[in-house]
Amino acid sequence: MLSIHEVSKSYEGKSGPTKVLRGVSMEVKRGEFCVMLGSSGAGKSTLLKLISGQLAADEGQIIVDGTVLTKSNCRQLQRQIGMVHQHFELVERLTCLDNLMLGLLPWVPWYRSVFRYWTNQERTMACQWLARVGLEPSHALRRSGKLSGGQQQRVAIARALIRKPKLVLADEPVASLDPETSHSILTLLRGVARECNATVLCSLHQPDLAHEFADRIIHLTSGVIKFDGPVADWSGKS
Ligand code: ADP
Ligand code: ADP
Repeated sequence: MLSIHEVSKSYEGKSGPTKVLRGVSMEVKRGEFCVMLGSSGAGKSTLLKLISGQLAADEGQIIVDGTVLTKSNCRQLQRQIGMVHQHFELVERLTCLDNLMLGLLPWVPWYRSVFRYWTNQERTMACQWLARVGLEPSHALRRSGKLSGGQQQRVAIARALIRKPKLVLADEPVASLDPETSHSILTLLRGVARECNATVLCSLHQPDLAHEFADRIIHLTSGVIKFDGPVADWSGKS
C-alpha cells in the first residue's frame, strides 16, 4: 500500500541544512495499523508530510498504492489519503456537520462548501458518520470549537474517513488528549479503519499505546529507523 525507499530530508537552518530524515525505507501492507514511534523531533511529522505531499523529499521515492509520488500527481494522491492531526484542525466556528462535509471537498465543488449547500444524501451520510464515531445527533449542529478535545478528534476521524480513503495518516492524534480519551480515540480509529479496509500510519510517542494498538511498530530515532517489525518482536527499548 505504501512503499518508502531511502528517503532523506533536510531543513535549511541558520547554520546550514539539518538532516531530519536519513535514508528511511519502509513498506506498509494493505489494511495494516502501523505505528511510527519516536520522541519529539525524531522526524515523524516530516515523514508524514512527505507522504501526504505537503513537503518534497530531497532524495528517495515514495509509492502510494502503486503510484510514485511526484510534484505533478501529489494533489491527485492526496485525495486518496485521510489525515488526522494532533490539534484536530477543524474549522471551529463551523458545525460538526459542516466540518464533516469538508472531508468531501474534492468531490463537491468548492462553492457548495462556501455556501454550505449539501444534498440530503450527503447530510444523511454525515449524520451516519457522527453516530459511527460515537457522537449524538444533537452534536451535528453544534460548533465544533465548543466540543471537548476527544469529541473534536471524533469529528476529525469521521472527516478523514468519510471518503473511504485507502490510506490514513495520523500525526500524533492523541498527543493533546488525556490517557483515557487517548485510549478511546485509538480504539475508534483502529475500529473504523478496519471496517473501511483502510491502511493506517499513525505516529505516537507513547510506547505503551503503540504496544497495545499497533499491528506493527516502526521506531524512528533522529531520522533513522531503529526498529521495524511486528508488535510481538518489539522489546520496547531498541
Ligand atoms: P516529530 O514529528 O517526530 O516531533 P518533526 O518531523 O516535527 O519531528 O521534526 C524533526 C526535526 O525537524 C526537529 O528537530 C524539528 O525542529 C525540525 N523541523 C521540523 N519542521 C521544520 C521546519 N519547517 N524548518 C526547520 N526545521 C524543522
Ligand atoms: P509537531 O509537534 O506537530 O511535530 P512542532 O510543534 O514541532 O510540530 O512544529 C510546528 C510547526 O513548526 C510545524 O509546521 C513544523 O514544520 C514547524 N517547525 C518545527 N520546528 C521548526 C524549526 N526548528 N524551525 C522552523 N519551523 C519549525
